[in-house]
Amino acid sequence: MDILDSTSTIRNRADRADGGYAGLDGARFDDSFVRELPGDPQTRNVPRPVHGACYTRVDPTPVRAPRLLAWARETGDLLGIAPPPVPDGEAAQVLGGNRLLPGMRPYAARYGGHQFGHWAGQLGDGRAITLGEIACPDGLRREVQLKGAGRTPYSRTADGRAVLRSSVREFLCSEAMHALGVPTTRALSLVATGEAVVRDMFYDGNPRPEPGAVVCRVAPSFVRFGSFEILAADGETEVLRRLADYVVRTHFPALGAPSAPVYAQWFEEVCRRTGVLIAQWMRVGFVHGVMNTDNMSILGLTIDYGPYGWLEGFDLGWTPNTTDAQGRRYRFGSQPEIARWNLERLAHALAPLVGDAAALAQGLAAFDAAFHAAWREALADKLGLAALGQVGDEALLGDLFELLQRVETDMTLFFRGLMHVPLEDAADALDGAARVEPLRPAFYDGEILASGHHGVLADWLRRYAARVREDAGAPDGTAFMAARHARMQRANPKYVLRNYLAQEAIDALEQGDSSVLERLMEVLRHPCDEQPAHEALAGRRPEWARHRPGCSALSCSS
Ligand code: AMP
Ligand code: MG
Repeated sequence: MDILDSTSTIRNRADRADGGYAGLDGARFDDSFVRELPGDPQTRNVPRPVHGACYTRVDPTPVRAPRLLAWARETGDLLGIAPPPVPDGEAAQVLGGNRLLPGMRPYAARYGGHQFGHWAGQLGDGRAITLGEIACPDGLRREVQLKGAGRTPYSRTADGRAVLRSSVREFLCSEAMHALGVPTTRALSLVATGEAVVRDMFYDGNPRPEPGAVVCRVAPSFVRFGSFEILAADGETEVLRRLADYVVRTHFPALGAPSAPVYAQWFEEVCRRTGVLIAQWMRVGFVHGVMNTDNMSILGLTIDYGPYGWLEGFDLGWTPNTTDAQGRRYRFGSQPEIARWNLERLAHALAPLVGDAAALAQGLAAFDAAFHAAWREALADKLGLAALGQVGDEALLGDLFELLQRVETDMTLFFRGLMHVPLEDAADALDGAARVEPLRPAFYDGEILASGHHGVLADWLRRYAARVREDAGAPDGTAFMAARHARMQRANPKYVLRNYLAQEAIDALEQGDSSVLERLMEVLRHPCDEQPAHEALAGRRPEWARHRPGCSALSCSS
């Protein structure tokens, strides 16, 4: 990370000399959310129900010894902020929650949510506090929010803090997802608090102290489906309208002045964005793990990184979240259906504003259409086909998914390997051995290709190769083949944030070594590039990590 290397001070000064970005203290903070929306008239910072408001003004609780552990350069660039020159200076004080800058009026947002299919009532920012908004060089305004910044009226019985391990995971994944082209909230910094946080990691009655941390997250807005649901549930229709108006005006200005039909169009746009988002998750094999309605962004961003995971062995039924192990409500293959269910909850909350059930149903239909179009496009890209929809394509896809589930097949490595599968007729010789070969690294059982699976795979690849040759035989075939490789490379990342990789970074950081995190961040900045020096980070999950906590499955403890 820049802040930890000795040249960063020099680079920082050089940036300023070049007329580039200033430090955090040079940023101008705005507070439109606080200014334009009704706030909680009470400011008592104790757990309590809040009524008639979108937020409560609350300052972060200071921490003992804030120290910057990591800084995400790209997010800094987005905000127009240079990397801090030292790890324990002014920036760490601000990003650890110890110091406010002019223009900041921090708040915790009020929201509710459906958790695991049931209405949970008031939730709200129990440990996240937005410091303010920055007008960014790209013309957008973005919220800067600290997660783990201390108690708020929404903390219920919890402590308002976050452990280092979950903070590293949120920090890393936010940036990794962005680099993969998946809409997401971003992360700016990771700050160690110098304080311990007590957690019962396995929920087995063995709480222990762990190092605490604060992540600074950045997004145009952190408003969630649940932000509207709580207002509808409490019958606060005027506040609901004000929040909807603020969100439409600020984040969907192209829709025009808010009105009943505009709310319906806005809902439709949220549905569309959510459909695209879920298709992108499925493309890279990401499982969110806790798709409660309070964890669904109104902007269609991935939000709230908790017990998420990447598919290693392709399995539609897999969830990384041990808290959801029983019902597996949020398993990989259910994500589209759950997103739609969540949108139905949002539709219900917006009904008093839209007043037209048919218009809301049209929005939901837009989700279906957007998801299916984006998912088909992603699959065509992943397979290197011009488009799906020819006779036989459904069967080809269906058989592929069955094949992937049949034996433990690493999703990332399989699709990456497809780029190298020989396509010509002659490759059918020797039982298709040449075709199967590039896929060998994807199998967790090294002997599996000596079994009947070889024949099944070779047969599917023969059909696949013939299908690609059909595309290539079209009049613009040569150009198609030239572009195909690049398209497949972009759609099929080589490096994803496997849980065991995140855990290795966490283990090292807990021992004071940030180099593992730094290397991982650097590699994940270019997930689709070859990066031969980092081949080791592209391999299958090692066997030792199969059952180690944090390396495959995780609880919600964070
Ligand atoms: P999550 O499952 O992380 O999305 O959190 C659900 C709710 O619990 C949200 O309202 C969070 O703000 C709250 N929450 C989670 N962890 C804590 C914590 N350590 N302290 C206070 N509130 C928390
Ligand atoms: Mg949440």
